[in-house]
Amino acid sequence: MTANTNSYEAVRIDENTYRIENIGVRSYLFIGNSKALLIDTGFGNCGSIIAEINKITDKPVMLVNSHADPDHLGSNREFDMAFMHSDEIAHYKKHMGEDAPVSPLTEGDIIDIGGRQFEVIHIPGHTPGSIALLDRKNRIIMTGDTVSKGTVYMFGEMRNLPTYMESLKKLISMSDSFDTVYPSHGTFPLTHYQISANLEAAEKLAAGELEAQEPPMPVPAKLYSYKDASFFY
Ligand SMILES: [Zn+2]
Repeated sequence: MTANTNSYEAVRIDENTYRIENIGVRSYLFIGNSKALLIDTGFGNCGSIIAEINKITDKPVMLVNSHADPDHLGSNREFDMAFMHSDEIAHYKKHMGEDAPVSPLTEGDIIDIGGRQFEVIHIPGHTPGSIALLDRKNRIIMTGDTVSKGTVYMFGEMRNLPTYMESLKKLISMSDSFDTVYPSHGTFPLTHYQISANLEAAEKLAAGELEAQEPPMPVPAKLYSYKDASFFY
């Protein structure tokens, strides 16, 4: 028996969709007729996300980052190009260097992988260029860190709580277009309920109605919880 030294583990969701788990962060792989779409590359730590993908498909892989926090960029260097919202590029280059290859996406862009399309939805707040990707035909939306049953990081310079709340309202206004929510952390999958739960908790946090608790891990923030949502803030 050989030890598994690759910290990426692909788990099949359906015939053409996989989630790739990596130390508490989740990437997604969607396989179309012409290419595959990878959302995020995890923390990295050890192993290769390309090696894991090569077990599944030999189609060319397009990498899109939901946002540019380091736990979503771990194996970005395995790709020639990373696509992300234009408002995220400065944040990305801070982590990856000024000459890191990157291409901008914007609200309403359609990513077509052959027989399957994803629409770029700008949902700033967690970071300035956070995006969701909406697959209208299959009624799925991938929401990065913005929607989560786990604790959402809302402290630090990239975060903006009022903007975050506006983005959750935007997702709720679009909720006729999807049934299933694919998050980057915590319970998978989620439903509309979690978007409302995140918004309700964020509104209470903004209004000063939640009690600060000591965080269970060393982060320079307090923990705020309400029902099924929580924040480090
Ligand atoms: Zn994250």
